[in-house]
Amino acid sequence: MNAQTSSPTVFDVQRIRADFPLLSRTVHDKPLVYFDNANTSQKPRTVIEAVDAHYRRHNANVSRAVHQLGEEATAAYEGARDKLARFINAGTREQLILTSGTTQATNLVAYSYVMPRLQPGDAILSTVMEHHANIVPWQLVAQRRGATVKAAPINERGELLVEQYIAMLTPEVKLACVTHVSNVLGTVNPVREIARECRKRGIALLVDGSQAVPHRPVDVQALGCDFYAFTGHKMLAPTGTGALWARREHLEAMPPFFGGGEMIREVRFDGTTFAAPPHKFEAGTPNIAGFVGMAAAIDYIESVGFAAIQTWEQQLLQYATERLHEVPGLRIIGEAAGKEPVISFLVDGAQATDLATLLDLEGIAVRSGHHCAHPLMQFYGVPATLRASLAFYNTREEIDSFLDALLKVRRMLR
Ligand code: PLP
Repeated sequence: MNAQTSSPTVFDVQRIRADFPLLSRTVHDKPLVYFDNANTSQKPRTVIEAVDAHYRRHNANVSRAVHQLGEEATAAYEGARDKLARFINAGTREQLILTSGTTQATNLVAYSYVMPRLQPGDAILSTVMEHHANIVPWQLVAQRRGATVKAAPINERGELLVEQYIAMLTPEVKLACVTHVSNVLGTVNPVREIARECRKRGIALLVDGSQAVPHRPVDVQALGCDFYAFTGHKMLAPTGTGALWARREHLEAMPPFFGGGEMIREVRFDGTTFAAPPHKFEAGTPNIAGFVGMAAAIDYIESVGFAAIQTWEQQLLQYATERLHEVPGLRIIGEAAGKEPVISFLVDGAQATDLATLLDLEGIAVRSGHHCAHPLMQFYGVPATLRASLAFYNTREEIDSFLDALLKVRRMLR
């Protein structure tokens, strides 16, 4: 299938589903409806087979051995970097540090970029809608330096108040950060505009792209940010994969965060020197098989094409939203225009966790809880929400099953 030739009418979702072995399993004797994609996506056969083939035929450590297997493993791992660099238009492959996910990427920036720059009284600007991975690392380094973390506000619809964010870009801010897409609300933030304003003021901007890369083409250079962090397991790749993209000047100036093998030029007790980026930031044996799977995931996404993915997902989002509005006492949290297919909601008189547990018995996998976004829950004054997050392999029929099950379990709780 090709992005250019795909259209909503020819999007063959059943053919796509056949590529994902897990989607055909049952849960509690019911057909699985997997609506927890913002948590982690399912994996196509090509990804599973790429990982399997790596361990069966090519397994060796990278960058250490001159033997054939070592060369094959290194070529596969570095090939994944090249593919990922093209996928997000990184500019150069050296600007892409392979990590275990977004969390490792934000912590790397916290300790290697932010902490050395922080003075008492300085600040880091975050937002109320961030995942904890884009809050807690900043708090940890801020505490050590006598600095603070400020949070830009949002409105009831779950939209960032951009003017207020910009007004909070004051001289003591040493890093600004924002999520590209909210994992709870689906809101897409105006990253280009924010990046432009940050640049005018000489403040570096980190964008958390975890929930953007599965749904939309990302061009980090066009966005104009300084750092872009994301995770692979939400975009069909294995768990324990992700990356940090950064402007070259930052990577050259930043000291290493993790020390160990692979990241050095020469180790001496009277002074160790370090490898050039990206290897300076990749100490130890990486998740080689995971990145082999990541390369296959990118191939898969590109074979479907973001144009087709976005069209289908938006149709599903609209249909699911309409159907959810039919449920009496249901309130959707997050109603920003142009959002990605993530729907958080609450049902009057029912605890989110009880509903999710009963839905599971019907074969429906949704997430309940705070979604690693406590400040957002505090903003809405709730301890938890239910979240149905969709992917391009989901169907309208699954949305119907979800609604039938939701109406049934809601009756059971009344
Ligand atoms: N940021 C956002 C917006 C997320 O949704 C997640 C995962 O849920 C993360 C960061 C953390 O990703 P990881 O656990 O893969 O590091």
